[in-house]
Amino acid sequence: MDHETDDRIDVLIGGAGVAGLALAVALRQGLGAGFAVTVADPGLDKMPGDPRASAIVAAAQRLLAAIGVWEAVAGEAQPILDMVVTDSRLADAVRPVFLTFDGDAEPGQPFAHMVENGPLQAALLAKARATGVVLRPQAIAEFAAPSVPSPSERDLSVALAGGERLRTRLLVAADGARSSLRERAGIPARGWSYGQSAIVTTVAHERDHGGRAEEHFLPAGPFAILPLRHCRSSIVWTEQAAEAERLLALPDGDFHAELERRFGLHLGEIEVVGARRAYPIGLWIARAFIGERLALIGDAAHVIHPIAGQGLNMGLKDVAALAETIVDAARLGLDPGSAAVLERYQRWRRFDTMAMGVATDGLNRLFSNRSDVLRFVRDLGLGLVDRLPGLKQLFIREAAGLVGEVPKLLRGEAL
Ligand SMILES: Cc1cc2nc3c(=O)[nH]c(=O)nc-3n(C[C@H](O)[C@H](O)[C@H](O)COP(=O)(O)OP(=O)(O)OC[C@H]3O[C@@H](n4cnc5c(N)ncnc54)[C@H](O)[C@@H]3O)c2cc1C
Repeated sequence: MDHETDDRIDVLIGGAGVAGLALAVALRQGLGAGFAVTVADPGLDKMPGDPRASAIVAAAQRLLAAIGVWEAVAGEAQPILDMVVTDSRLADAVRPVFLTFDGDAEPGQPFAHMVENGPLQAALLAKARATGVVLRPQAIAEFAAPSVPSPSERDLSVALAGGERLRTRLLVAADGARSSLRERAGIPARGWSYGQSAIVTTVAHERDHGGRAEEHFLPAGPFAILPLRHCRSSIVWTEQAAEAERLLALPDGDFHAELERRFGLHLGEIEVVGARRAYPIGLWIARAFIGERLALIGDAAHVIHPIAGQGLNMGLKDVAALAETIVDAARLGLDPGSAAVLERYQRWRRFDTMAMGVATDGLNRLFSNRSDVLRFVRDLGLGLVDRLPGLKQLFIREAAGLVGEVPKLLRGEAL
């Protein structure tokens, strides 16, 4: 089958992850039923399957509240009330704590909540349906701009897997870290693989964590224990890629023993209660965030080390900036896919993304080195941060997304 549907779509989003769905909902809410938004994703039939949980910072939480999704996940969201960071070898009996965070982003507002990705995606999907977003359970296979653009024929022609063709004024690539839409547009991503993978799983434990997040910088890389509701924690456990494969393949008992060596017994007995999965880790930033009638958001635009739990938060910042750019343009009667409109989005997001990419890369390099001298230097460095409340407050406000030119949705304002 290879036919073209007549209805023109204003914005077609490839990818129904958190970034793609949040953008779809924000656009429909901002521009109403006259603005046609479609999301295509081959995984739409079998969602949600992501075993990860994310630390959602205060600004991203405000965005989710502004689009009416936070209320659906709030009951199961675990506030992060404080955070400890330690630096030690696996065999150390006591892990020296050298950094603690216990501040609020703003009075009464924790700087982050842990939210499980699966339920968050399900809540976004329900909201997308309720706001009239058209959902297509197919991949976007290819797209092309008209060879001779004319004012009456300014759309992209997009083929879904299976052959059906759609026309859209703007295609948004929200298709994740290995974005085939970015590749098809000929936009290179610059960066490198760390040769590491992050093993993700969920554990239940006897004692409550009290809302404390822990990050242990072990020689192989960071091992994070992130608090979830109901005496559970999400684990993000970094290892060299081959070692991660070996650990994933272990029988349950052996995997449990390896996990316990790193987790410790401070929360009592632990039990693995979630699926185990490994994610390759790299730093990849697209050379451009826009192309002809194309915008990149979320992991399709940038992948960073999960060391600071910022990837999804950055994706939601893209959503806030692109939604505001499109809504402002459409209200003025401008074409949302025009170069001038897309340039505004790119200017808004590129610098911030580079800064976060560099910061997380630096942290990872500092902490993945096994030298005792480096250990001493970084203990000194972070120890200093811990002693300067002003600097730490800035760190927390940055994590909470309250620094710089903040788009409306991240301030909790409607578009
Ligand atoms: C171990 C780990 C822990 C993390 N922890 C945190 C954290 O605590 N906080 C945080 O902010 N971030 C965290 N992140 C990052 C975060 O998980 C990602 O940034 C986020 O999931 C990316 O969302 P996305 O919507 O951009 O892409 P994805 O969630 O990858 O969604 C992409 C979607 O596109 C679809 N797709 C693919 N190809 C096509 C196509 N051709 N056409 C249509 N659809 C297509 C896929 O089916 C998929 O549904 C973590 C990452 C890792 C690896």
